[in-house]
Amino acid sequence: MKHNFSAGPSILLPEVFEEAASAVKDWNGRGLSILEVSHRGKPFVEALEEARSLVASLLNLNEDYSVLFLQGGASSQFMMVPYNLLPANGTAGYLDTGSWSHKAIKEAKLFGNTEVLGSSEDSNFNFIPKGINAGEDLSYYHITTNNTIFGTEIHDIDNVGCPTVADMSSDIFSREIDGKNFGMIYAGAQKNLGPAGTTMVVVRKSLLGKVDRKIPTMLNYQTHIDKDSSFNTPPVFPIYVCLLSLRRLKEIGLSEIERRNKAKAKLLYDAIDSSSLYSGTAAKEDRSLMNATFVLNNNDLNSEFLTACEHAGIVGLKGHRSVGGFRASMYNALPIASVQVLVDLMKEFERTNG
Ligand SMILES: *Cc1c(COP(=O)(O)O)cnc(C)c1O
Repeated sequence: MKHNFSAGPSILLPEVFEEAASAVKDWNGRGLSILEVSHRGKPFVEALEEARSLVASLLNLNEDYSVLFLQGGASSQFMMVPYNLLPANGTAGYLDTGSWSHKAIKEAKLFGNTEVLGSSEDSNFNFIPKGINAGEDLSYYHITTNNTIFGTEIHDIDNVGCPTVADMSSDIFSREIDGKNFGMIYAGAQKNLGPAGTTMVVVRKSLLGKVDRKIPTMLNYQTHIDKDSSFNTPPVFPIYVCLLSLRRLKEIGLSEIERRNKAKAKLLYDAIDSSSLYSGTAAKEDRSLMNATFVLNNNDLNSEFLTACEHAGIVGLKGHRSVGGFRASMYNALPIASVQVLVDLMKEFERTNG
């Protein structure tokens, strides 16, 4: 048994792994694997519908919204959002909070004007700029709610004058959110929901059809809305695994999930804050509940620390190269027991090496 702190693809609930594995062999006693059934057949159409309606229910959506499961990763949404929502003479506002925001801004510039309404680049993205003024003149305001690489998270999402578009790839369903406060939400599945291969997209339908440009069929949200997310062959297996996670999330409830995530993060951050060997890299008030980034005050101990982690069965802890140090990703499926193993190891390592 490993304690998997990987940033993504990442840990899923044990019962999700079991049900998914069983469906690969024989999906619910049909004598067929989930990998070989038609995406137009009733069983999968029903599974897709159930997944879409669970997303709508968990996010408190109404009929103004459509839920899609697309391909191309969250990275394709960096392009599809401005393609569909940003007129050539329009302006979109962006909050610049890290590498993923940067990539989103780069794509938007291909389609219209962009305005960076706040940035923490000067301090290597270790905080979230606050008090953003995004007015009605903007086509939309794009935020990255959780910065997977830099370990910051937007804890209070402001309501602004224009539609908010949120990349929630790494904190989707980690807390209670009212989806109706957003114009769009998107999330690559592989951080908090399922395997790599599908991206959950939520669109407020009234935002579409306002740009003049021609949009290629596959890149047009309207295509996928009109065909109930099955214009072409959808990623059947990734969607099915998302459905298994969504069912558990619905059973447990997002308020309980949020409580657990806060408890896990507190356990780790308290250990970091009370130590003289470890330092968090993100501003305290903006620290992510999902990805905790920290460094050792003595860099000479870095590889020894990683080795000690490996011996304790702790994997996925190496930080992203742009921050260095370590990153503990504590997604929904990670049990608090794994965080306790990490915290115990950190304390023991400090005692013997501090
Ligand atoms: C991982 C990640 C992405 C990129 O997702 P892909 O599915 O690999 O394209 C985008 N945004 C955030 C916040 C991420 O964590």
